[in-house]
Amino acid sequence: MPKVFNWQIGREMDYPYDGARPDHQFAYIFDLNKCIACQTCTIACKTTWTAGKGQETMLWNNVESKPYGYFPLGWDVRILDMLGAQSWDGLKYTGKTLFEAAEAGEAVLGYLPDDLDYANPNVGEDDCFGSELKGAVNGVADGSGGAYFDTVHHSWMFYLPRICNHCTYPACLASCSRKSIYKRKMDGIVLIDQSRCRGYRDCVKGCPYKRPFYNPHTRTSEKCIACYPFVEQGQQPQCVTMCIGKIRLAGYLSLPEKANKNHPMDYLIHDQQVALPLYPQFGLEPNVYYIPPVHVPPQFLTQMFGPRVHKAVETYRNAHKDPKLLAAMMLFGSTERILKEFRVEKNEVVGIDMMNGGEAVRVPFTEPTVVRPFRDEKVGAFRHNIS
Ligand code: SF4
Ligand code: SF4
Repeated sequence: MPKVFNWQIGREMDYPYDGARPDHQFAYIFDLNKCIACQTCTIACKTTWTAGKGQETMLWNNVESKPYGYFPLGWDVRILDMLGAQSWDGLKYTGKTLFEAAEAGEAVLGYLPDDLDYANPNVGEDDCFGSELKGAVNGVADGSGGAYFDTVHHSWMFYLPRICNHCTYPACLASCSRKSIYKRKMDGIVLIDQSRCRGYRDCVKGCPYKRPFYNPHTRTSEKCIACYPFVEQGQQPQCVTMCIGKIRLAGYLSLPEKANKNHPMDYLIHDQQVALPLYPQFGLEPNVYYIPPVHVPPQFLTQMFGPRVHKAVETYRNAHKDPKLLAAMMLFGSTERILKEFRVEKNEVVGIDMMNGGEAVRVPFTEPTVVRPFRDEKVGAFRHNIS
């Protein structure tokens, strides 16, 4: 099996194909401290791409709560359990990746969810004290109420938005026996060729993040396409530009050794290392990077984001003292355009458009405060002090 280098686990690893890493990988950063689970991203994606027949239960973008929310049911705890012990030596992962742990004859360790695992994506997620569903038969409450969870329910939680990670070493691609999945050389976006796919669901089984979905109407598998028609026009994807919480930024990422400190993606991911991949130990080198939620117990964050998480939390907590770091994070949700650079000018951050090199956005560090007089003389009325 060919060997490829995975910078997120600090070592070479087995992968069924030679690597197809592009010079500039399309990538995302999500700040988990800001997500409010409004699901605007979910609906923006749904109405743009998956409103058709056979796509009813598909969510290319979903937002689940952690530790108890899952879509599909138990996706991460199941694969973590199958993988077994996961150990790190400093920044080097010494356990097995999903490719290295694959059973004989398989490209990757995985499992196929049941259809019902995709039903009720939010049930029980935010219920600290239980739900009506305990004792329910076929979803109908029997009146006993009580706790939905039979285990301890922690007093902390956070929201985790998820899309396809457009991995550098995609498990969906590795496991597809039809060779219907490809990674674009120009930007690293991973796509399923609908004309080749025969719906074997190898990708659904192989992707540990469970991002490909089977469409029973077309009998093919489908997944997030990173809004590539927008991206090709220099525009960020729908889930990014529509995000109410302004938690998202998307753009092109370089390799760590070629990072440009004035590029917001390179700066936050490689230079400041404040945004981290989800379950790097799986070995896929995913390209959605998360700023970890700073209030969550470190052991939980370490399993989820790897050993860099402690430094990332510290960096984030101190961001208010670093104007450049603050500036980069203020670009989230500030423009529809994909940026190639940013700079700080006095009390503003300026973002440069990737396509035309012009100024795409200018964001003030401090919003101006306007105090309106209590009485509006023009209309002869008093104002309520509510906005
Ligand atoms: S739109 Fe933004 S804030 Fe709302 S759920 Fe999605 S990621 Fe979170
Ligand atoms: S997240 Fe899953 S579907 Fe997306 S590229 Fe990675 S392996 Fe493939």
